[in-house]
Amino acid sequence: MTEDLATIVQRHGHDPKWLVEILHDVTEAQGYVSKGAITELASMLGVPRGQVEGVVGFYTFFSDEPRGAYRVLFSDGTTDRMAGSLALLERMRASFGLRDDEISRDGRISVGTTSCTGLCDQGPAMLVNGHAIGSLDGARLGDVMALVRAGAALATWPRELFAVRSNVHRRDLLLSAKLTPGEAVAAAARRGRDDTLAEISRSGLRGRGGAGFPTGAKWAACAKAPREPRYVVCNADEGEPGTFKDRGLLAHHLDLVLEGMTVAAYAVGASHGFLYVRAEYRFLFAPIEEALAARRAAGMLGANACGIHGFSFDIELRRGAGAYVCGEESALLESLEGKRGIPRNRPPFPVTHGYDQCPTIVNNVETFMAAALVARDGASVLRDLGTRTSAGTKILSVAGDVERPGVYEYPFGVTVRKVLEDAGASRVQAVQVSGPAGTLLSARELDRTISFEDVPSAGAFTVFDDRRDILAILENHARFFAHESCGFCTPCRVGTTLVARTMGRITSGHAARRDLVDVERVARVMAKTSHCGLGAMAGNPVLQGIEKFRPAFDARLRPVEALPTFDLDASLEKARDVTGRDDDDAHLAEESTP
Ligand code: SF4
Repeated sequence: MTEDLATIVQRHGHDPKWLVEILHDVTEAQGYVSKGAITELASMLGVPRGQVEGVVGFYTFFSDEPRGAYRVLFSDGTTDRMAGSLALLERMRASFGLRDDEISRDGRISVGTTSCTGLCDQGPAMLVNGHAIGSLDGARLGDVMALVRAGAALATWPRELFAVRSNVHRRDLLLSAKLTPGEAVAAAARRGRDDTLAEISRSGLRGRGGAGFPTGAKWAACAKAPREPRYVVCNADEGEPGTFKDRGLLAHHLDLVLEGMTVAAYAVGASHGFLYVRAEYRFLFAPIEEALAARRAAGMLGANACGIHGFSFDIELRRGAGAYVCGEESALLESLEGKRGIPRNRPPFPVTHGYDQCPTIVNNVETFMAAALVARDGASVLRDLGTRTSAGTKILSVAGDVERPGVYEYPFGVTVRKVLEDAGASRVQAVQVSGPAGTLLSARELDRTISFEDVPSAGAFTVFDDRRDILAILENHARFFAHESCGFCTPCRVGTTLVARTMGRITSGHAARRDLVDVERVARVMAKTSHCGLGAMAGNPVLQGIEKFRPAFDARLRPVEALPTFDLDASLEKARDVTGRDDDDAHLAEESTP
């Protein structure tokens, strides 16, 4: 029997801040969030109906329309496509006689696509009712289709189908660390709050999410912000296409992450923490809840946490719901508050006005791991590694055209060439570092280094060899941003769509010189005028592509100044059919403007 709305809302204390969690539970129970359910939820939570409807419409994982009993979503990341996902998608749709996200007549199945699911090292991948299945090939897809046809409950599907491999190929400081739970917090308590903050600053730790803001400065600002309570948030919403390292960190190094969060809470005086994990990592939710329960049982969370008198701190797991923009810290906070993940105006910054307008630090998984080791071992544990301005190590998610895709950890300052050699790459055409919003490197730049001062990275490291169509890759990145734009501001909402469409025409050979000028101009306008980093960076793939791979663009452009963006000739096809007139005069001659 499915759970009713009243029970779900009651479990979450009738608190609108839990709306995203409530919608997850409703979706789990009823398959979707019906229009009637939206009305009821609004009434039970005491918020306008439009607020609930807006949240349902914002997140990919929610829908106000019925979906198939098996909702299949193929991961549409660049590496999934490189591994053959489109052919598998078409095979499945053809087999069930479906079009895009259409539901089969018997209501059994719908088949659509979603952005990168974080299985780039074992793609192509898909989600079935949110459960990840990787390493797809013809045989595994055949198994999935047979199970769907048989109407087998997901719980009875072979566990092997859902296996997710770790693929760790190189360990350094973080991935080889051994920690007894509570050790780092105890060391911080011995040092005291102020000295712990000072030690974090001395270590040179910078945020591993890519921007590299000094962690010590962030924590110190939060610690001295006047309001209470204070919050600690771990951003595990890694949605950048090509990154998947947090998946393994949460699966195999969770204690170090939770320890780092607890150290942070002690240092800034926070009483509450959130671990915000992307919904695509559903297979991690149960183990995380178990780990949190174990820490509570061992006295490491809760009142007098870790035996520190007067230090009360607990951590809640919160699920994302398929919105890339929620990786931006202020959008994430909105999501935690049960709202659409629209980035906030800044200032004020989260360190003074974060969750519930209270002082909040937001750091990513890797940053908290490093902080735990600094608390236990001192600043030198990072200072002795890396470069002068990039202390410590960086964990990379290496995927694409390499023999050994997976997770690699290096001291900062490692060259791109060294990573490529270790992963078994050859005939390299390009490397996309830190996802589509990051840095696109050509084969002439392989001696550049992964570091904040040269090529910063949030973790993604995707390799394309010289067999790949670089324009198709850039088009895929442009479509990703158009899909993930939250639509709040015009430059990004319109600009990302214009860029994606123009890149589509360039890639397919239906664009002229003028299109290249236009797409470049739109990308620059987005960079200057967008409300948040997503829009500001969304033109990066195109701008860097034009700069570094110009011959590929020139070879694909038609030798004319401009072409109509609307294919009038093709649109007249129906009229020709109706009138039966299809002679030469019924077609438009293409004008050529050299
Ligand atoms: S830049 Fe894009 S993602 Fe950011 S607020 Fe504007 S529309 Fe939303």
